[in-house]
Amino acid sequence: MKHDVVLIPGDGIGPEVTVAVKQIFEAAAVDVRWHEHQAGIAALAETNEVLPDSTLEAIQRYHVALKGPCTTPVGGGFTSVNVALRKRLNLYAAVRPVVSLPGVTTRFENVDLIVIRENTEGLYSGVENQVTEGVVMSMKVATEAACSRIARWAFRFATQRKRKKITCFHKANIMKITDGLFLRCARQIHEYDYPNIDYQEMIVDAGCMKLVQDPTQFDVLLLENLYGDVVSDLCAGLVGGLGVVPGANIGDDRAVFEAVHGSAPDIAGKGIANPLALLMSGVMMLDYLADTRSDRACREAALRITQAYRQALSEGQTTRDLGGSLSTMEFARAVIERLSN
Ligand code: NAD
Repeated sequence: MKHDVVLIPGDGIGPEVTVAVKQIFEAAAVDVRWHEHQAGIAALAETNEVLPDSTLEAIQRYHVALKGPCTTPVGGGFTSVNVALRKRLNLYAAVRPVVSLPGVTTRFENVDLIVIRENTEGLYSGVENQVTEGVVMSMKVATEAACSRIARWAFRFATQRKRKKITCFHKANIMKITDGLFLRCARQIHEYDYPNIDYQEMIVDAGCMKLVQDPTQFDVLLLENLYGDVVSDLCAGLVGGLGVVPGANIGDDRAVFEAVHGSAPDIAGKGIANPLALLMSGVMMLDYLADTRSDRACREAALRITQAYRQALSEGQTTRDLGGSLSTMEFARAVIERLSN
């Protein structure tokens, strides 16, 4: 079965890590037909728009995309393409597995967490205004529909994956109405529909402290948009950094897979970025195709690629962010050499 997949290289290190992942997919004989489209700065240069309709239409047509990072200017300029893409396509659930890897030594062993982040509202509503000179405001939006939808998604996901516990991080002691609604929805879904999963609540600041003390006490984390963004990067630090944490943005009938990391302008163009986070996102995409289209070949390819990169890591084949010396393409070749037939 051939799968049509939209490929958005992005900018910064995006094109470099995308080429590496494409080569590994090709070597693994993954049956995908890439449809390349642009977003962000790369699209601006070509079409004068940061999120061209043709990119959105392609994802709507093919339902699945693999995306590199897109830069968002700080403190001005265009609004985030990444946020716009998730909102316009209603990709409401961000899923980020954070797992210890062989050969990647960190303070902790056996980290196995899944961060689930609400992807469409909260402080990412984009509603900011100036009330008067020197007074500005940002609107945090929470709707019962979106809070219940992400809670239901998280409990269903945890049940399907045989996970045991969901911890909801919040700040409802301060944001009593918005975070209060997020908590109320999670409690209801747990109580009425998923009593099989343990459910726990934690104030986000205390939760962060506990995460860095002992992440193995957590299983699945459920967070609203901003906390999910921040805590994802914190969790990446527990397992070796942003070079090893993949992600998916999932809606009801479409999904965009992308690493948690951004465009890394400090190392862009040097050929040293770790392509593993995007590769792992590609593996999540293959599993999604296997699940949604009953294609066993995708599952097998996902497994072969996973075995190959795990073997490469355990043999000390790593990029600089993990203490090694390999370039982006040297690491890709190390994975390709270890692909089983
Ligand atoms: P970043 O994730 O790009 O980089 C943070 C640090 O991690 C940097 O030191 C970088 O070199 C390192 N790093 C990240 N990915 C790496 C990799 N694959 N291999 C090796 N090292 C890696 O975060 P930032 O610098 O805060 O953001 C840069 C830009 O990316 C900003 O414009 C931001 O808005 C954007 N961004 C985009 C996305 C996305 O496209 N989904 C996500 C996050 C940030």
